[in-house]
Amino acid sequence: MYTGNSAPVRERMRRTPLGLEEEEEKHLKDLLNREVIHSSSSEWSAAPVLVRKKDGKIRYCIDYRKLNSITRKDAFPIPKNRDLYRHFERYKIATLRDCSYCSRAQKVWSSFEDDVDYVVPLSVRSVSEQDEDLDETNLDSLVNCNWISESEITNMGAEQMEDQELNRLIVWLEDKIEPEEHEVYLCSPSIKHLWNCKHQLVLKNGILCYKWLDPFHSRLLLVVSRSLRHKILENCHDTKLSEHFGQTNTIERLKQNYIWYGLRENARNYVKSCHTCNVNKKANVKPKGPLGQFHAGIPMEKLHMDILGPLHESSSANKYVLVLVDQFTKWMEMFPLPNQNTITVAKRLLDGFISRLGCPVQIHTDQGKNVDGQMFHDICRLLQIVKTRTTPYRPCSNGQVERFNRTILQAIRCYLKGKQKDCCSLRALCKEGDRNGEETFNGTKDEESE
Ligand SMILES: [Zn+2]
Ligand SMILES: [Zn+2]
Repeated sequence: MYTGNSAPVRERMRRTPLGLEEEEEKHLKDLLNREVIHSSSSEWSAAPVLVRKKDGKIRYCIDYRKLNSITRKDAFPIPKNRDLYRHFERYKIATLRDCSYCSRAQKVWSSFEDDVDYVVPLSVRSVSEQDEDLDETNLDSLVNCNWISESEITNMGAEQMEDQELNRLIVWLEDKIEPEEHEVYLCSPSIKHLWNCKHQLVLKNGILCYKWLDPFHSRLLLVVSRSLRHKILENCHDTKLSEHFGQTNTIERLKQNYIWYGLRENARNYVKSCHTCNVNKKANVKPKGPLGQFHAGIPMEKLHMDILGPLHESSSANKYVLVLVDQFTKWMEMFPLPNQNTITVAKRLLDGFISRLGCPVQIHTDQGKNVDGQMFHDICRLLQIVKTRTTPYRPCSNGQVERFNRTILQAIRCYLKGKQKDCCSLRALCKEGDRNGEETFNGTKDEESE
């Protein structure tokens, strides 16, 4: 147990209820006799509490809360099974079930100590397969279905020799040549890859194989020559036994017996382009309508609207900026707002914009409830304005105004260093600047709408 540098935790013993004193005494003696507990003078102590069990007997519960609070816990207390098996390969394993008490385990341990390396209080599957000498494995295991005939297996060596890449590897292995580093550098990725794990390459009856080391099922994989790959893919995917399984299953199937550089990619492409699969399987992806583009034809046809903020509160208590942009002319209006309620926004829109410039045909906003709520819709209906909004999570469909927002924020950041209170007075300047620069925005941002 790791407790770091913290001081030992000590806890005062709790008082035993008078009625239980006798029973406690008996229980303690029993535990001592069975060597479950022993006396200790450790500087750590935790208070036990007597609890009555369902069957009427008593039991000690120990209040470890204080200790637990300072213990540094292991985030992954249980090792992975695979790692365990790999670790135990080297040991003779004793299996102990139900070690109920540590002291008992200790005794068992000492009696075993001479002939075992490990005592495991769990039953662990024996790992014997590893002992099998791989070299004894028959090549027949390479062929799990009948489609490769005997003669073809013997032919395999010849096929591999014809394959330029494998040929090279076989020659190196046969003559036990250790090629120079620069020589390997110049080779194809396939050769580099296989030569990197040359210790796992073996020649079996003149056929190049790959030793697949696995604690459960070590086996020899056939290194497949280019000429055979298509046939193997066909047989691992198209035959009745393979049932046109998907990419993952096909790859798993291939990996049981074969290996080549780019197996995964080849298999993936093969399955993707399989005619039968494409004709008969249902697509998993729902088709979406393509997002179109919207172009306004006349001034005031489409008004983009957005609320910027909250910003620093200005001297006249304004925190938000209402930004309005006409899509056709790119004319921009900005109004400071104290808050972003529907009433405030609508009032500003009517007083500041519509009363001066007239009604737009369409108002486009994001999905904020204050600009897309019932009340705003009602106002729009009164004024015979078509109300549209952006698609969810796609603010770019309100691109016109979002792009202006960026410019405005930039301007605010540039000009108002430490003078945030002046936001309102600088608004005019900022707006003027944006209008002057409007040419740069013209047509640069096509917005999309549903
Ligand atoms: Zn298929
Ligand atoms: Zn500058």
